[in-house]
Amino acid sequence: MRTGRQYVESLCDERCIYLGGERVRDVPEHPAFRGVVRTIASLYDMALDPANGMIYRSTEIGGDANAVFMIPRSADDLRRRREAISCWARRTNGLVGRGPDHVGSFLAGFASAPEFFARGRREFGENVSRFYRQVVEQDLYVSYVIIPPQIDRSTTAQGQEEPFLQAGVCAERDGGIVIRGAQMLGTAAAISNYLFVSCIVPLRPGDEDYALSFVTSVATPGLKLYPRRPYAAGQPSVFDYPLSTQFDETDALVVFDDVFVPWENVFVYRDVEMTRAQFFATAAHVLGNTQAQIRLVTKLKFLIGIARKIAAMNRIDAIPSVQETLGELASLAAVVEGMVLAAEASCVIDDNGVARPNSRFLYGAMGLQAELYPRAVHLLRQLAGGGVIQVPDSYKELVDPETQADVRRYVRSTGVSAEERIKLFKLAWDLAGSEFGSRHHQYEMFYAGAPYVSKGYAYRNYGYEEATGLVDSFLRTYDLTSATEANEL
Ligand SMILES: Cc1cc2nc3c(=O)[nH]c(=O)nc-3n(C[C@H](O)[C@H](O)[C@H](O)COP(=O)(O)OP(=O)(O)OC[C@H]3O[C@@H](n4cnc5c(N)ncnc54)[C@H](O)[C@@H]3O)c2cc1C
Repeated sequence: MRTGRQYVESLCDERCIYLGGERVRDVPEHPAFRGVVRTIASLYDMALDPANGMIYRSTEIGGDANAVFMIPRSADDLRRRREAISCWARRTNGLVGRGPDHVGSFLAGFASAPEFFARGRREFGENVSRFYRQVVEQDLYVSYVIIPPQIDRSTTAQGQEEPFLQAGVCAERDGGIVIRGAQMLGTAAAISNYLFVSCIVPLRPGDEDYALSFVTSVATPGLKLYPRRPYAAGQPSVFDYPLSTQFDETDALVVFDDVFVPWENVFVYRDVEMTRAQFFATAAHVLGNTQAQIRLVTKLKFLIGIARKIAAMNRIDAIPSVQETLGELASLAAVVEGMVLAAEASCVIDDNGVARPNSRFLYGAMGLQAELYPRAVHLLRQLAGGGVIQVPDSYKELVDPETQADVRRYVRSTGVSAEERIKLFKLAWDLAGSEFGSRHHQYEMFYAGAPYVSKGYAYRNYGYEEATGLVDSFLRTYDLTSATEANEL
């Protein structure tokens, strides 16, 4: 396990990131990344502190490791894993979606089934196990890009205007393969150590060049990151944008300009069926998305906490309709938390001995997410009213002798200072209305696929036999004959 400082030092390499028309030279000190890098560093330090209960004994490496990387073998392992993930989520208020625990969970799922990958080539199974051990031993931060760039969604890779728009293998060389093309949308790629690259979107026969999965260091020559506009840079202070400045994990288009990948880093090669199946035949998708739901539970609690405090500060909390709004928020949060706990309590041990959270409840929660999170944000905005806008431009108006008297007199609540009020309402705006907050709205709707994809998971994993069985048994309790006889009576 590594310290926060060691994590920060690991980012000082030759990674190629373009922002504002320039190549970023110093990731840990760049204004776009400095805040979130410090946040992630603090997560590593938290994990090392035994008081946080995040350390477990890993049989895979024969030593102590961070429980977020655990391959769970029982409901109790799932609980320990959840507590570790929650511990990190509390530090970020669930606002870092792709911390090391997200893809780390996918990799744990892959490593639980090396024989699945060995079906492609024997070495691929060994590659998966070895890379997982490396992640656990070295506490590596892995992010992923598993979606083709949004160019033409009516077809798959082979139907695009030209070859290698989607990342694919363009050549084999001594000792490995050469990757050309692009993938989206590398959340945290700029601040991670490795990228897992694949395609979760179903491919067709003929797409073999794109039917791959592999890992590559973010600093590999030819790998370029094009992040969207960062939200931390240029903000006046943490006081004004407390979330943008500390939790903007950034998202990036990843371009592979003939990137060499050694065979040791390849998990699936030119196999359409296995490229998709790696996520679902192993526990990877279930474990990775359980991490996401555990994180969401904390985020919803944080949102509700802000809503509750705003209602109290504005003295609207005794109004029945306001309590109804707060009650709806409480229900939304409780539903997700309940689903996480239900999935854990009714986990299923798979053929590899892995405790998989029950997919009915996991995917049931995910299927609601595209409506649930936007609804929660909407309710927060409804309660906040113009208070999130009636705040001065920056903390400076609170301290400048020319302006502070006005601000302190008029931007306050009964018994609450201007500083306290502005602090809370600026926080609410950063969550619900800033560009950072707006990106989170989009994130919760899309991070696990478009809403039709998440609902498709819910559809495929519900297990309709029980529901249709109920209907069938009821339908058997009456028929046409009984109707005729009843009428005769
Ligand atoms: C903030 C954010 C962070 C992300 N981070 C990552 C990451 O770290 N790694 C990663 O790999 N990906 C990441 N993603 C990408 C994410 O996985 C994709 O956004 C997601 O898979 C949906 O693909 P898309 O955006 O191309 O939307 P599309 O698939 O193009 O869908 C957009 C809309 O088009 C319609 N539509 C398209 N196709 C169909 C269809 N077949 N049937 C019905 N309707 C259809 C629907 O209305 C749908 O909502 C992230 C996305 C966001 C927004």
